[in-house]
Amino acid sequence: MCGIIGVVQKKGDAAPFLHQALKRLEYRGYDSVGITTIYNNQLFTKKDKGKIDEVHASLNLDDLPGPIGIGHTRWATHGIPSLYNSHPHFDCDNKIAVVHNGVIDNFLELREELKQKGHKFHSETDTEVIPHMIEDYMKNGMDLKSSVRAVSERIEGTYAIVVMTTLESDKIVCTRDGNPLVIGTRPDASYVSSDIPAFLPMTNDMILLLDGEIATLTTCGVSIEKISDGTPVKRDVIRISWTADQAQKGGFPHFMLKEIHEQPMAIKNTLHLRSDAIRPAAEMILNSKKVYLIAMGTSGHAAMAGKHMLAALGGIFSTFELASDFPDTIYGTLTEDDCIIAITQSGETTDTIAAVKYAKSFGAKVIAITNVIGSSITRIADHTIITQAGPEIGVAATKTFMVQLTALALLALMLGETNSFLDQNTLRKKRESLTKLPDIVSDVIAKSEEHARRLSAILYDRPSFLFLGRGISIATANEGALKLKEISYNHAEGYSAGESKHGPIALVHDGFPVVFVIPNDATRNRIIGNVMEMKARGATIISVIEEGDNDLIELSDHYITIPKGVEPEFSTIPFVVPLQLFSYYMAIKKGHDPDKPRHLAKSVTVL
Ligand code: GLU
Repeated sequence: MCGIIGVVQKKGDAAPFLHQALKRLEYRGYDSVGITTIYNNQLFTKKDKGKIDEVHASLNLDDLPGPIGIGHTRWATHGIPSLYNSHPHFDCDNKIAVVHNGVIDNFLELREELKQKGHKFHSETDTEVIPHMIEDYMKNGMDLKSSVRAVSERIEGTYAIVVMTTLESDKIVCTRDGNPLVIGTRPDASYVSSDIPAFLPMTNDMILLLDGEIATLTTCGVSIEKISDGTPVKRDVIRISWTADQAQKGGFPHFMLKEIHEQPMAIKNTLHLRSDAIRPAAEMILNSKKVYLIAMGTSGHAAMAGKHMLAALGGIFSTFELASDFPDTIYGTLTEDDCIIAITQSGETTDTIAAVKYAKSFGAKVIAITNVIGSSITRIADHTIITQAGPEIGVAATKTFMVQLTALALLALMLGETNSFLDQNTLRKKRESLTKLPDIVSDVIAKSEEHARRLSAILYDRPSFLFLGRGISIATANEGALKLKEISYNHAEGYSAGESKHGPIALVHDGFPVVFVIPNDATRNRIIGNVMEMKARGATIISVIEEGDNDLIELSDHYITIPKGVEPEFSTIPFVVPLQLFSYYMAIKKGHDPDKPRHLAKSVTVL
């Protein structure tokens, strides 16, 4: 994971920009931070363990000279967070600086080889082999670009690396294999970063760098070559519509809360996707024998809900599998007649990419649903649906979950229309309900935020929660439980209410909080039975229900209502909102930073 950034600018010091860019990348990792610049043929570095603000308070990250520099905010894989393990890492002569995102699988062997040659190592990281290897190559007469190319031929694993050296002090060289890097350009500067928001305040013009390519950034611009044979790559500049404001908190105390409030707009923008963005996916599914939804984390919950939508609206049965376990579940039973719907907000989730590559090796067709144009998955998939959430900075996904669900709803309706599973009246009714969702979600946010905050004040010290639902609401319950776990660190389990009596009910005792998700769908009457079972054992019942559901109001200790008129297949969209707000306020009440949950990073780019 981790965030990396580099800049080559014509004038002015790079450090203040690098510091701010790292702040915008901090969601990718935040256990250490470091910046190195070049000035007068010398490297200047400030780095340490800790969050960016903490390190800046003690070191002043803005105070480094020179117009060229690189920076890193780390999510440790090899070696504890410490000063010595913080990036950038250097060669023996302190002339070459490297930042790296990813994992070098064969670093032990390479480090041994380098030690034999007399190199001295200062960290436990896998990364540090890179500057020492470059040092060797450059001492043997190679230039920086050829040395980075030679390194990429020897290292195994996944990486994005950004390098600079006093020996060629006018440039930055970068390459990637498996981990993201995007380049930003403007007439007086070039940027390279793990993600677009890092350079958004400076430019909207970006160039994709693909796996197996190497880029050189100088004050004269950017050149890209294929690493294998040095062929120059001509790639168009893409102008992205995201604004710098979208990557700022805009008056909200946290990105997560801002992004919850942006959900109505994100849904609306995704509903505007043209039918030719959806139709090829529907056709691929209709021409397939077996259909799999694969994803991880919150995207996995969108996939779980998507499975219901595809069946109920599209007449298509599919199976949901965790991407990380897909090959170990499928046992090679895929064929070229099968279709995979892979969902990943970043388009870079390593587990999902690996599962997609596995599926493609059998000739299966791949549909990707992602929020990031040009991301890795878009280049592997046969068709991609780009959701329209804008940049999501909060580590706990909220608005990207909404747009994944919206895209799946559009896909399910397109299926239902194309194969005549739905008649025209039903189609019209479902479509109308879908277009009302942005307003309904606005309403839910307005009405439930204060309620969720008050509930957090009552329940914040309960060590454990159950979240229960039936049918599609199992996905909603799972997402509610995941949010609570990831940002407020209460133990929480999302479960099928039907399954709850086969085990989890043993956890329940007087005052044990059980959160029920109960839209007014075909499961409602059966789930009331489960509410009764939990009540009979002393549970505190918290329910998310439809407005005017007096039976459940009566049975609940606490409840939050959702406006009437949401079609059952879309219920996850509004019903999850109070649960997002609840976990946000639980985190606040407990003094945790919801934007930077411990041990987590936004886009999980390790297996
Ligand atoms: N493997 C490197 C380390 O542990 C990079 C981790 C990252 O991507 O932040 O330092």
